[in-house]
Amino acid sequence: MNQTTKRQVAVVTGGAGFIGSHLVELLLNNGYKVRCIDNFSKGSLANLKSCEADSNLEILGADIVDQERLANVFRESSFTFHLAGIGDVVPSIENPKKYFETNVTGTLNVFEEIRKQAPYSKIIYAASSSCYGNAEVPTNENHKIQNLHPYALSKYLGETLALSLGGIYRISTNSIRIFNAYGPRAINHQTYGAVMGVFLKQKLENQPLTVIGDGLQKRDFIHVTDVARAFYHVSQLNSHGNIYNLGSGSPVSILELAHLLDGEIQYIPDRPGEPRITWANNEKLINETGWRPLIPFEDGINDLLGKIEDWRNTPLWSRNEIANATKLWFDTLASKEI
Ligand code: UDP
Repeated sequence: MNQTTKRQVAVVTGGAGFIGSHLVELLLNNGYKVRCIDNFSKGSLANLKSCEADSNLEILGADIVDQERLANVFRESSFTFHLAGIGDVVPSIENPKKYFETNVTGTLNVFEEIRKQAPYSKIIYAASSSCYGNAEVPTNENHKIQNLHPYALSKYLGETLALSLGGIYRISTNSIRIFNAYGPRAINHQTYGAVMGVFLKQKLENQPLTVIGDGLQKRDFIHVTDVARAFYHVSQLNSHGNIYNLGSGSPVSILELAHLLDGEIQYIPDRPGEPRITWANNEKLINETGWRPLIPFEDGINDLLGKIEDWRNTPLWSRNEIANATKLWFDTLASKEI
């Protein structure tokens, strides 16, 4: 970029998180001035180590739940990537209200401030494929919605709110439903979270990998750098009001993952209501934006094995601890008469 050209401003909410930090790096590399906002509940400055000192990066500590803290955050922004939110199934069953406050009202707060400060900002909302529940596969964007837990519902309501308000206030908004993102910085903190972090820590400590059920269930894993690239591609579109599925389109079984990690296996009980397979039909994204996934799963896993020390200070989950952590899930979601 020419020195005299003014850089466009891109805001990334949740920019210090797993996906957000990769997106921040990509935007800086693509010549943007990036404003990262994060409440640092799960995100961390360590995630932004590679670019922390970049003069084109501004890092602000703010929580989207607190609208007052968002005053000025979106000024001059041409793009807003809204990734701030909370994940994980079990805590959402324990405390649905917290999920609504963050993922729904927090999204409303972001919209309110964009409406005032930067109504020309293009918004890209990070949605979750969990809204499809137990879906027919490969799953396209028109598939029926089946929210199986409060987390899924809160992300879906946040998406509906974003797209609806985008239409009402004429603010360009698109949504990306992310399948199973994995890659560097996929750190599980206190809660029992995504499988990759669980397995990497187990492998690092020479403990068995806790494979759920028969391990033949499949997930559409997509590398986090491919996720960040997809957000960038969608931001460059002139169309709005669209939903895009974001997955590799090539699901792999949990047993295949365990074999690639080359760990000993311990089978643990099935989780009630869990999809047997997730598989994104990603044709819309590919056809409309030119994006395609670049990191083959094996390469992504080998890269993670080279970085496995990053998981040293994360919680180790044993069979018994997983049983305790998911008890509420089992009790609440196991099929029962109502
Ligand atoms: N999984 C597993 N062992 C674990 C955690 C998860 O075998 O300790 C499996 C789980 O059954 C699912 C897959 O890994 O098929 C992905 O689980 P995760 O919670 O990461 O994502 P989601 O189920 O929401 O797609």
